[in-house]
Amino acid sequence: AYDSQDLWQKDKDHFIHPFTDFSLFNEKGCDLITDSEGIYVEDVRGNRFIDGIAGLWCVNVGHGRAEIGQAMADQATRMAYFSTFNNLSNAPATELAAKLAELAPSHLNHVFYSCGGSTANDATIRLVHYYFNRLGKPTKKQILSRNNAYHGTTYMAASLTGIESNNWEFDTLDHLVTHLSEANCYRRPEEMTEAEYCDHLVDELESAIERIGADNIAAFIAEPIMGAGGVLMAPQGYHARMQAVCRANHILYIADEVVTGFGRLGHFFASEAVFDTQPDIINVAKGLSSGYAPLGATLISDELYAVLSTPQGPGGVLSTGFTYSGHPVSCAAALKNIEIIEREGLCEHVRDIGPYLERKLKTLAAHETIGDIRGSHFMMAIENVADKATKELLPVEARVGDRVAAEAQKRGLIIRPVGHLNIISPPLIWTRQIVDEVVAILDESFAATTLSLKA
Ligand code: PLP
Repeated sequence: AYDSQDLWQKDKDHFIHPFTDFSLFNEKGCDLITDSEGIYVEDVRGNRFIDGIAGLWCVNVGHGRAEIGQAMADQATRMAYFSTFNNLSNAPATELAAKLAELAPSHLNHVFYSCGGSTANDATIRLVHYYFNRLGKPTKKQILSRNNAYHGTTYMAASLTGIESNNWEFDTLDHLVTHLSEANCYRRPEEMTEAEYCDHLVDELESAIERIGADNIAAFIAEPIMGAGGVLMAPQGYHARMQAVCRANHILYIADEVVTGFGRLGHFFASEAVFDTQPDIINVAKGLSSGYAPLGATLISDELYAVLSTPQGPGGVLSTGFTYSGHPVSCAAALKNIEIIEREGLCEHVRDIGPYLERKLKTLAAHETIGDIRGSHFMMAIENVADKATKELLPVEARVGDRVAAEAQKRGLIIRPVGHLNIISPPLIWTRQIVDEVVAILDESFAATTLSLKA
């Protein structure tokens, strides 16, 4: 057993937590999560919670999978690490690359490994710049991203990120990135239908290309559904139309599937299956290894690879990558994770249970603070507002997202507060019965929040 007082003190004294509000942390310290099994996690005091966020959108196959632990242990004792630079390789990295090529849309057959989502996006931009340099188009450097996008926090990934508060007090690489509008049906201009809104967003892309010049733009990057930005739903047909405009201008289309990949929307990759796009590049992380080990991967088209793999001449190398690119233990975890997703039919399961989760969550709509309940399958959010008709937000000081999450946690459920939103992104193994239990807890939690806001 852990000594909870000792751990709390050490944590407070020494551990700088990422994305932490120090006004809350300094007051409350941390919640130490120490144990896990299936859809549950347990804190150091022995309280058990339903995990409503899959760790952090990542523990897709659920917690405590001994066979993943075993695969990692076997690999760690056989050969924990060796470089993959130059001509060196290892068996799990090679097997996983082939497996990803098999699962991905048919034109994506080449894999570049990184350590997670941020480094996958960062490496991607270097590869894209390298690609255009090799094509003799060195001015194609700008990346189009979107407001409220989340692509990570390494320097380039943070610059691609469009959530304003993420970059308060930080510098960004503004000469390389242009942010377009977010695609957000809930907060679209009132006078527009969804179809007109889509036209409007596509027009904005075309205007940006005209203004900046296609010769200066390398790529457009987009999450199929914006995650951390608030599970923002684009209008029907948006991604396919954006891709068509990009393609017409030789602008690469990068799908950041760090959240949407590996079953969360009911498919290994959502781009083609759900959004009818054929990205030049797809980035994955999180569910790729279900969070059992850090890993990111960039899937690259045959067309791009043909250029990337062209010899530079004597002494020239593709100089990018990480010590842990293709880490054998992470790749062994990912291979076992994929085996489980396939063996247990978890994509099919999500396609079956996802609509039920959406339907049941929408029964909460009458609660006073709830303005919108949205998302798809196992990627859902609830947006809290002060006024349902005007969609006006509650004051930041009300901390409504935190309040709802705290009420849920009191009742045995962990969901994620993001500003005025609450995000639900469960392990893919939730059943109908768990959905019912979760929705009952949320019902009570929203009722308690409404009361506490009035107190
Ligand atoms: N891209 C998306 C869409 C994400 O949601 C995240 C993390 O939440 C990242 C990239 C960054 O991934 P990581 O935190 O593994 O660097």
